[in-house]
Amino acid sequence: MAWRFALLIDPVPADAPDADFSDRFEEIDPSAPALTVGELSTQRGDGIFESIGVVDGHAQEVDAHLERLAHSARLCDLPLPHIGQWRQAVARAAAHCGPGEAVIKLILSRGVEHGPTPTAWVTVAEAADFTAARTHGIRIVTLDRGYAIDVPARAPWLLLGAKTLSYAVNMAAIREAKRRGADDAVFVSSDGFVLEAPTASLILRRGDTFVTPAPNAGILHGTTQLSLFDHLEKQGFTTAYETIPAADLPRADAAWLVSSVRLAAPIVAVDGQPVAHDRELTASMNDYLLSPRD
Ligand code: PLP
Repeated sequence: MAWRFALLIDPVPADAPDADFSDRFEEIDPSAPALTVGELSTQRGDGIFESIGVVDGHAQEVDAHLERLAHSARLCDLPLPHIGQWRQAVARAAAHCGPGEAVIKLILSRGVEHGPTPTAWVTVAEAADFTAARTHGIRIVTLDRGYAIDVPARAPWLLLGAKTLSYAVNMAAIREAKRRGADDAVFVSSDGFVLEAPTASLILRRGDTFVTPAPNAGILHGTTQLSLFDHLEKQGFTTAYETIPAADLPRADAAWLVSSVRLAAPIVAVDGQPVAHDRELTASMNDYLLSPRD
């Protein structure tokens, strides 16, 4: 990944008055060492993050990402972010993006044991080229997530609805998908309901209705899915959150994995079987997702 910019943040309390926070930011060399060895984000994956898509210097859906950062902080008992301070950090990062697509990553870590806490930083990197996934689509396999759909409510300490830094399981699922000859995975609960992909939300189309698994199933509430549902509703479609049996996935009129940087990737095969997809609608979804969105 080509890193372009990194900014350390000295976080102020969430209820501090709004101000110019530039004196609490420190621009650092993105290729030089920056964290101490006692950092709990690297030692335990104990922290949270957001990845924001940037198109031609415009950071997309910043408020939705900052709201989710605050939601993750609440679930993880981390100090709540000061939204105004983080918005300024994102604006500073976006100014380093230039033309084309980039990714701004926000990281809030529990910090250093017996040391400064929390630690926080923002990075900018070039985005990979996702043209092939957006236009030719992706083959997915369904993978058992290993817990039932009611587990998130029974065991909140599993932090299933938080975007934590502990993505080793998510990355392992993508490797397993590739071993099985696919491009990506869709997690299925042990009682047979589709959840989400390791780094994306799932959307199915049934006639003029678009459905996605309800976020209370211990999945992330995707900012791209939210934005796309808003757009589809304005075009006269119906949208809904549902508990969706895995058997509905290959039977859908079309299905997509959607996320902030890859955007809408149409699913073209499920567990080795080709499924229906809609090139034209996918292209119009990606045109919308690439337009400036707040
Ligand atoms: N679900 C998971 C597990 C993710 O990691 C992501 C994004 O990285 C998403 C869903 C999609 O979220 P967003 O649309 O906000 O990128």
